Amino acid sequence: MGSQPNPDDHYIVMFPFMAHGHLIPFLTLANRIHQRTGFTLIIATTKLNLHYLRRSSSNRYDDLNSGIHFAELPFSSSDHGLPPNTETTENLSRAKIIDFLHASRSLETPCRNFIHECIGQYGRQPLCIISDMFYGWAVDLANSFDTVNIAFVTCGAYGFAALISIWNELPHRKTESEEFEVTGFPKRCRFHRSQLHQFLRVADGSDTWSRFFQPQLRLCLKSHALLCNTVEELEPLGLQILRDYVKRPVWCVGLLLPQAALNDMSCSPSSSLSISKPRVSKEVGISAEKLFKWLASQEPKSVLYISFGSQNTIGATQMMELAIGLEKSEKPFVWVIRPPEGFDLKGEFRQEWLPEGFEERAKENNRGLLVRNWAPQLDIMAHKSIGAFLSHCGWNSVLESLSQGVPIIGWPLAGEQNYNSKMLVEEMGVSVELSRGPLGTIAGDEVKKVIDLVMERDGKGEEMKKRANELKLQIRAAVKEEGEHKGSALKAIDDCVASILA
Ligand code: UDP
Repeated sequence: MGSQPNPDDHYIVMFPFMAHGHLIPFLTLANRIHQRTGFTLIIATTKLNLHYLRRSSSNRYDDLNSGIHFAELPFSSSDHGLPPNTETTENLSRAKIIDFLHASRSLETPCRNFIHECIGQYGRQPLCIISDMFYGWAVDLANSFDTVNIAFVTCGAYGFAALISIWNELPHRKTESEEFEVTGFPKRCRFHRSQLHQFLRVADGSDTWSRFFQPQLRLCLKSHALLCNTVEELEPLGLQILRDYVKRPVWCVGLLLPQAALNDMSCSPSSSLSISKPRVSKEVGISAEKLFKWLASQEPKSVLYISFGSQNTIGATQMMELAIGLEKSEKPFVWVIRPPEGFDLKGEFRQEWLPEGFEERAKENNRGLLVRNWAPQLDIMAHKSIGAFLSHCGWNSVLESLSQGVPIIGWPLAGEQNYNSKMLVEEMGVSVELSRGPLGTIAGDEVKKVIDLVMERDGKGEEMKKRANELKLQIRAAVKEEGEHKGSALKAIDDCVASILA
C-alpha cells in the first residue's frame, strides 16, 4: 500500500463463529491482513476453540506472524441446555445445532467487555471489527464503539446470496410448485425444494431456525462491507448477484489456504498442511505414513477421495449403497467414514453398516482405505494420485478441491451446500451431483455410473478435469504477487483496508 500508517497504531478484533469451517478461514485471513498491513489482529473466541486455533496455527503455518493474538471469551454451553464443553458444531445433532446457534448470541456481552478491555489497553478503539456472517449483532456492537463492522462470509458468493435471499423471503412458501425462483438470481437458475435444508423447507418466520437466521443475516447486511472467502474470477455470476442484493462493497479475499497448499506439492504429506487433530492417527486405524505410502503407490489421478466434512454423515442405507457402488466401480478410494445419521458420531464404527467383508476385500485387492472419522484432507487433496472428490460440497472442501484442480461428485447435505453444488454443476461444469441430503435417494448402480463418468479419461470426465484445472490456475493467480501483478485477493485486502482508513 502507498503511504503506510504506523502499524503500531492499528489493531483489528475478529469474532469467528464457533465451527472449524469458520475458525480456520478467520485464522488465515488474520495472517494475510497482518502480512499486508503490519496491523495487530486479535482473534477472540472460546477456550476450546482457542486450543484448536493454537494447535492449527502451529501445524498449519510456518509463517504465522507474531502480530496475531488470541483472546478467550467466556462461554458455558450447559447454560444453554447443551452438553458440557460444547464449543463447536462438530458431532452435534441437527436439533442441537440450532440450540447452539442461538447460544452463540450470548457471546455479545463478553465481546462488548472484551472491546472495553482492548480500548483500555491500546488507548483507542479497534480500526474495525471483523465478525462472522452469523454474528449480525456485531454491527450494533461496532457502532456503539464508533468503529465499523465488516462481515466475513466464510462461504462462497453464490451460496451466500442464495442463503440470504431465501431466508429473507422464504420464496418456496409462496408457491405449491417444487421449483421456485429466488430474488436476485436469473430466471434460468430455478431452485428446487429438495435443495433446501429440511428446517428451511418448513420455516415460516416464527420457528426456531427462522428466529436465528432471519435477524442475524439481515443485521449482518448492515455491515460497512463484506469480505467473502472466494476468488473474484471464480464466481462472476454469484458475485454480481450478491453485490446487487447487498448493495455494499464485497471484497473477495479467498483463497484462504496456507501458501504451501498453493504451491505444487510433491507426493509426500506436509505436516504443515494438516489441521491438527489428535485423533487422526489413533482412530484412522492406519498411520498417516501408511496412508500416504498407499497413495504414492497409486496411478496419478486414479483415486477417489470421499468425505462429508467435519460434522456430517449420511444415512445407513445410503452408506451401504455407496459402498456397493464403490466396489462395483473398482476404482481405488480413500473414504473417511463415521457412524451413519442417527447414531453417535463419536461412537465406534460398526462393520454392519457396510457390506459384509467390504473392508477386508478392499485391503486384499489393494483397492482402498477406510479412514475413521477424520483425515488430513488438505494433504490428501494435494496428492497427485487424487482424481476426484466425492464431497458434501462444504465451501472449504470445494475450494480445497478446485485449488488442486480436482473435479467433484456432489452430495450436498446441509446449510448452503446445495447451492454450492448447484453452482459447481450449472456455472462451473466441474461436478456431477450424486444425491441430496443425508437420506437422499441413491442406488449402487447409479453410484458406479457417476464415479465412472467423473473418473473416465476422456469424454465428460476429462472435460471436467480440464475445467477444474483452469479454475485452479485462476485461484492460484489471485493470491500471487509478482512484479507489477497483484492477485485479486491481495488487492481486495488492500482496498478494504484503504476504505476503512478513509
Ligand atoms: N476436514 C479435514 N478432515 C476431515 C474432514 C474435514 O481436514 O476428515 C477439513 C477440510 O479440509 C475442510 C474442513 O475440515 O477444511 C471442512 O470444511 P467444509 O466447509 O468443507 O465443511 P464443514 O465441515 O464445515 O461442513
